[in-house]
Formats: sequence, C-alpha cells, structure tokens
Amino acid sequence: MYYKSTRDSSLRMESAAAISRGISEDGGLFVPESIPQMTMEELKALSDMTYAQRAAAVFAKYLTDFTEAELVYCTESAYSEKSFETANIAEIAHLFDGTYMLELWHGPTCAFKDMALQILPYFLTTSVKKLNMDSKIVILVATSGDTGKAALEGFKDVPGTQIMVFYPEEGVSDMQKRQMVTQEGENVTVCAVKGNFDDCQSGVKMIFTDNDVISTLEQGGMRFSSANSINWGRLVPQVVYYVSSYVTMASQGEIEWGETINVVVPTGNFGNILAAYYAKMMGVPIGKLICASNVNKVLTDFIRTGVYDRNRDFYATCSPSMDILISSNLERLLYLLSGEDDAQIREWFGALAAEGKYEVSDAIKESMSQLFYGGYCDDAATKETIRSIYETYGYTCDTHTAVAVKVYQDYKAETGDTTKTLIASTASPYKFSSSVLSALDSERVSEDEYAMVDELAKLSGIAVPTALSELKTKERRFHGSIDKNDMKQFVLGELGLA
Ligand SMILES: *Cc1c(COP(=O)(O)O)cnc(C)c1O
Repeated sequence: MYYKSTRDSSLRMESAAAISRGISEDGGLFVPESIPQMTMEELKALSDMTYAQRAAAVFAKYLTDFTEAELVYCTESAYSEKSFETANIAEIAHLFDGTYMLELWHGPTCAFKDMALQILPYFLTTSVKKLNMDSKIVILVATSGDTGKAALEGFKDVPGTQIMVFYPEEGVSDMQKRQMVTQEGENVTVCAVKGNFDDCQSGVKMIFTDNDVISTLEQGGMRFSSANSINWGRLVPQVVYYVSSYVTMASQGEIEWGETINVVVPTGNFGNILAAYYAKMMGVPIGKLICASNVNKVLTDFIRTGVYDRNRDFYATCSPSMDILISSNLERLLYLLSGEDDAQIREWFGALAAEGKYEVSDAIKESMSQLFYGGYCDDAATKETIRSIYETYGYTCDTHTAVAVKVYQDYKAETGDTTKTLIASTASPYKFSSSVLSALDSERVSEDEYAMVDELAKLSGIAVPTALSELKTKERRFHGSIDKNDMKQFVLGELGLA
C-alpha cells in the first residue's frame, strides 16, 4: 500500500515514510492510494480476537510495509491492561432501544485520543527504525485539550523523541490543564499560548513547513513529526474501533451480521468521523455518518450548503475539544470525493488559507449530503441532554458526548430513521466535572475541582479513574505562556537551537 499527498498525487511513499513525516512537505495530508476491503467473512473471523489482535488485522491492510511481528509488537504494547482500565479497551453500553454508546475513554487520559496516541509512538519509532533514520523525532502538538495530554502520556520518555505541547490559555478545562502542566517525563514541554486552538494549530503548521526551521533542525540531528490527526498514524488506529465495535455488536447478537448501523460522532477536527467513513468504505455496514458540532458549527453549515467559511465568531463552549473552526481532516475526505483531484484541493485549501473560505462543486455537495448528516447544539441544550439522559436512563455522559446524543435525537425526529445507532462517547464525564455537575445539579458546583469530582461520583456511581484522582497531589511543572507569534522562537530555544 502506498500513500499520496492530497496536494500532490505524484508524491508516493509507504506508510513508514508517511507516518514519520506526519504532514507532506507541500502542506498536504497523506492518504492511502486505495481503501482496503474487509469481507463479512473477514469481519466474522475477528469475533474471538482481543482488541489488539483485531487492530493488527486492520493494520495489516494499511501498513503493508510493517512486518507481522512489528504489528504485533505495536498493538500488544499499546492495547493492554497496563494502560487501559478495561480488558476490552473500548466498551459498548446499551443506552436505550437500538442506541449504543461506544465508550472510548477507558485509557490513561480518559478521552478517546488515547485510542490512537497510545500506539502512535510505537508506529513512529518502528517507522524510523525501518527507514534507518537516526535523527531524533521532535513532536509538536497543538491541542484543544485532550490531544495534548494523550500525546504526552504516549511519548513520555520514549527514547529518540522529544515532545512539545501548545494549548490555548483560556480554552481548556481546569482538569485538562492540570493534566498537562503536571506531566512527568524528561522529554516533554508544555506551554500555554495567548490565543485559541486555531492559533495554536496554525502556529504549529507554520513551524512544520518553515524551511529555515527544518534545516536548522536537520543540522542539529533532529526532524519534526506530528501527533495531531493530520498524521496517518493517528487516523488509522481510529478505524479499528469502528470495525471492532461492529464485530462485537454482531457477535453478541445486538445486530445481525450484515445489518446496517448509523454512527454519530461529536466532531472537531473531523478525524474521528473520517475514521468511521474509512470503516464504511472498507465494507463495515455503516449507513449515515452523523456529524455533531457545538455552536462552532462550521461543519454543519458545510454539510448543508457546500460552503466552508471560517470567517465567523469563535465561541468557547462547554465542549472545548470541539471548539474548532478549521477541520483539517476534511481535506482527506474532499480529496477522495473529488476523485483525487490534487489541483482542486490546492485551490480550495489555498482559498481557505487566504480568505478563510471555499465552496465545493454541486457533485461533492450531493455526495456529502448522502453520506453525512450535520447538526449542532448550544451549551444549554448540551446540559439539558446530560440531565435528561441521566434522569431517564441513569447514564452520565460528558459534554462532547451529549452534543452527539442531542444531534442524534434531532436527526431521528427529523428523518424518522430507526436504524440501530452507535454514538461515539469521547470523554469520561470526570474530565469535565464542573460542566457535567452544573447540568445535573447546579447547587453542587464549587470552586474546588476535586470536591466536584467527589460530588459527581456520588451522583453517577461511576468510579473515579485513577489517572484523574492521582493528579490531585501532583506538582505543577510548567508555567509558561507565550504570544502566538513567538512559538517558533520558543521551539528553537527549547531544542537548544536558538
Ligand atoms: C478531540 C475530541 C473530539 C473531536 O474529535 P475530532 O477527531 O477532532 O473530530 C471530541 N470529543 C472529545 C472529548 C475530544 O477530545
């Protein structure tokens, strides 16, 4: 299997090269040349396997330059009870008639980003070894909260790597911030940026593609790679849990083999829902892909009108990991839907960079609306949904997941579609204790984060994840906060190259 850049189809390389580079030098994203297929027989054969074994079976189709032993090493190292609180790695909860929650937050940082970031460091170090590169890998991460911590946990003290995480100073929850600024490890740096997530992401993207910086690093024996979902090594692990949960549901008799299910994903950067699209294209019987946003509803508008326009107010919401106006992974989808038209992608994404806006053709609009349904809800509806799900079903969900539930309810009311549905549950409610508690019982909200965690435990009956309870007494290691224009100098300084 070869990978191509969305902005230059003539660039062609195997997965180890694509993963170690992260982003293509033309600014494009790597996509597999074709989408491998899985027959129903192949899916059935996964029934008796562990999550790690299912993952290896899916990766064997995409990372064909990895040996079987390498894939087994990566998957067994990443998906074990050493880092996940459940042997199944991901859990499926039956919420109500025909509606299932795919709980992706049983990993070390309590959000779905662990599903990919626990394995990415193994993919990266294995790739570098395969390519006989001896340069140190420098990971730069822009985070809206969850990626940063998950990447830090994945990369801490991994030999031959160094990681720097930038987060928007006012854009993450207290728990998310505490998780990051207390991070242990010799090869980690965490820094706040005075700006929003898009500022962090644009800053990181600019540094990645700055030729002066790249050659300075080269002289210092280093090279950049990316842990954001622009890296294929971040995206392909997410395909696995859609394949795996279908297999689990069918083998447990919740659905028939071959029965179609819908998937709902609370979306920001479009990575998680793109992974569901890949699973569908591989042959997993997935019907509608329901894309749920908060009031930063650039994707809802795009799916409904074909116009992508980031020129709008940016809102800080109670689902901060979805406070995003530039959804990077949409580029991969549009590349596929346009018949791999790299010139067209250059034009659209050039316009996005220059004017913050582009409009796709009628044909693409049409295929978008057949594949996807886009919807959004505001903070009031998010909290109302948390409360009604709790009161009706005794299930406590976090703010991001609640956005997905609400948009799904709207979809069902609008279309009458009763297809069985899997909702991606992307974070533990404890990660957003204050918002979840204010939705359930505002009188229990206080200034003290851990008092709120305790209150939430009483209400929800869910055990507090150890990863969060142990933060209470951890010392803060990082205090820095910089201007968005100073990120480049900061990176060079931290690497001793200034
Ligand atoms: C990152 C994140 C999302 C959005 O996922 P994308 O892949 O960026 O679309 C949703 N919920 C939570 C909790 C997240 O951390």
